[in-house]
Amino acid sequence: GTVVSFRQASKSYGTGPGAVHALDNIDVDIRQGEFTAIMGPSGSGKSTFMNVAAGLDDVSSGGVFVDGQPLHTMDDTARTLLRRRRIGFIFQSFNLVPTLTVTENITLPFRLAGQQITQDEQHWIDHLVRVLGLTERTGHKPAELSGGQQQRVAIARALAARPAIIFADEPTGNLDTRSSGEVLRLMRSAATEYGQTIAMVSHDPIAASYADRVLVLADGRIVADHGRLDAQQIS
Ligand code: ADP
Ligand code: ADP
Repeated sequence: GTVVSFRQASKSYGTGPGAVHALDNIDVDIRQGEFTAIMGPSGSGKSTFMNVAAGLDDVSSGGVFVDGQPLHTMDDTARTLLRRRRIGFIFQSFNLVPTLTVTENITLPFRLAGQQITQDEQHWIDHLVRVLGLTERTGHKPAELSGGQQQRVAIARALAARPAIIFADEPTGNLDTRSSGEVLRLMRSAATEYGQTIAMVSHDPIAASYADRVLVLADGRIVADHGRLDAQQIS
């Protein structure tokens, strides 16, 4: 089924001749288990698209639906609840808690939800820590980590709770080739094997080649909607 839908969704900043149309009449459906890459030049509306899909920002007109529920008519409490239950974020501002260790940051979503970590979940968390190269850093605080390590902690935290929907904004932006490959393989298998729905903004053709679908934005519109492409077709 469809997990995220945009229906004639527009988002403008300002009014009159000086208005910026960050999203201009977007119609798109993102299906369950689909890994979508969102590409396009700077200023084309990629971040706005993600923020609106995640209910972090409102559309100016039209509608956005998650699980068939209209985000545009929900109040903040309902939206926050939907986000907590269904959505994981990998954003560029890592939002790691500075006073907590790597392990504590990764498991924070469980503690916030008052949830015990099952054996299976612990196995999965250990696996994430290992493949993301964080084994030697589990007791460190964010300030003691490199930018790439912080990014990997944020990725582990987002994947640990196995959210149904993952929004990732340039998840591999700070990473070396090897870590970047690990992250993309994790996202690929999250979609294929676990049916998680992933929307990822990326400028990197190699990253986008892992996706099932490539949406290209320009001036707030979807100007191309491709199936799977290889890196050469994208660049
Ligand atoms: P991208 O992520 O592709 O770089 P954005 O979604 O950030 O694009 O921005 C789309 C357009 O909306 C740009 O022209 C940007 O300047 C404008 N924009 C984004 N956020 C704001 C804001 N808070 N106020 C005014 N204009 C904004
Ligand atoms: P290892 O045993 O070396 O950690 P495995 O790949 O066998 O490596 O185990 C990884 C664990 O992570 C398994 O329990 C698997 O079910 C789980 N796993 C892998 N991908 C996901 C995912 N996207 N969501 C939830 N669990 C996952």
